[in-house]
Amino acid sequence: MRKRRQESPRRRGSINREFAIVTYGFLLLFLCMAGYFIYFVGYAGEDFIDSPYNPRLSQLSEHIIRGDILAADGTVLATSEVDDAQNETRVYPKGNEYAHIVGFSSNGMSGTELDANFQLLRSHSFFIEKIINELQERKNQGDAVVTSLDTALTDALYVGMANYEGAAVALDPETGKILAMVSKPDFDPNTIAQNWSYYTETGSSVLLNRAIQGQYPPGSTFKILTALEYLNEGGGMEDAFNCSGSYTYGDTTIHCYHNTVHGAQNFEEAFAHSCNSVFAEVGLSLDKSGMARLAKRLLFNRTLPTELKNVKKSSFSLKDADSGLVMRTAIGQGNTLVTPIHMAMIASAIANDGVLMEPSVIDHTQNDGGTLVRRYHPVRYGELFDESEVGILREMMRYVVTNGTGSKLYTDSYTAYGKTGTAEFSDNKSEAHSWFVGFAEQDEKKIAVAIVLERAGSGSEHAVPLARTMFDTYFR
Ligand SMILES: [Zn+2]
Repeated sequence: MRKRRQESPRRRGSINREFAIVTYGFLLLFLCMAGYFIYFVGYAGEDFIDSPYNPRLSQLSEHIIRGDILAADGTVLATSEVDDAQNETRVYPKGNEYAHIVGFSSNGMSGTELDANFQLLRSHSFFIEKIINELQERKNQGDAVVTSLDTALTDALYVGMANYEGAAVALDPETGKILAMVSKPDFDPNTIAQNWSYYTETGSSVLLNRAIQGQYPPGSTFKILTALEYLNEGGGMEDAFNCSGSYTYGDTTIHCYHNTVHGAQNFEEAFAHSCNSVFAEVGLSLDKSGMARLAKRLLFNRTLPTELKNVKKSSFSLKDADSGLVMRTAIGQGNTLVTPIHMAMIASAIANDGVLMEPSVIDHTQNDGGTLVRRYHPVRYGELFDESEVGILREMMRYVVTNGTGSKLYTDSYTAYGKTGTAEFSDNKSEAHSWFVGFAEQDEKKIAVAIVLERAGSGSEHAVPLARTMFDTYFR
């Protein structure tokens, strides 16, 4: 008979302790794995989406319903409808009005659909909801991108542009947030796929976002640069000039608009009246390399600092320019081309004490429950103008409103500043683009705008009233 081995109480205690260690060890491991799973689903997953090198970005749309794009007040600008088979249809409730700024998500993408593609394909839904969706093989709802777009301002701008082709953009100078951006002609993003071949094969320019991709002669809005260079080179606001309606040097004659004779005036008055004769004469006196340095400082021939994609550069050159080209350049004709957003950025920096804030449209992202995911803070580019330049430009641009071509902007409700332009773009002098570049402020609130209406004629007759509509709407 085998003698049953008696375990000592001490040995039994040791086994219990080992058992407890193994049990707690497994429990700890389980908790770690559960924690990692929650962490991955909730947070870490976005790093994969975030990477622009992610080759499987399009596959994400198989798991995530593309998020909504909203205006600042929550108005839905783009959303996805999902059927029982989990097929998505992208819908743009505001149609043509936001076609360029919101863009489209098929056929190569454009606008905010392109700029915020990563954000729209992230999902920060509550993790239990995500797990349930996974189990039921349903897609998770992507985050919503809330833009800085002001619907009242956009409505006013869209209606105000009527049937003119052209573009307008409004920025908040202190943050760089885009308040409104409209380009015409426009299109219905709801039918972009059906009409794609028509747009691309007929050479139509409706898909062009003229606010960021239209390159226009700046006309007299360029006198902001010419004036600044003149004053920086020692010229004065009180310098006396006499306009006879035109100015001739060599074989080039520059005419004032409609051959108006502005007569005796000082430099500030010549700016307010947009006198081409004085600015052609002044242009000849300027240091060409100094003018080129100023243009470079103000971001000509450079990629504009903004989160927006596919923005065209403005171009400026006085290289090998003869006196005729120098004169034409000084009044904003010549070879200079600008984008409306660039001119809005220049106005915005003047309004913001010389500091340029980078234009952006994404204000924040939120999950499907409306909880904030990420706020996109304003980005400071740097100083475009020093303090004395800001003082000079504000005085001159205010004088345009009180005593010049911008008088339709005069009101007691707010203080407006700006420069008009009438830009010829062909040998046919009767055709010209109507420009306004400027800003307005009321207490602490500010707005900067650039407007170009193609073939609309004089800036004071067409672009200025539209600026008035925008300012009135914004400060209402
Ligand atoms: Zn004149």
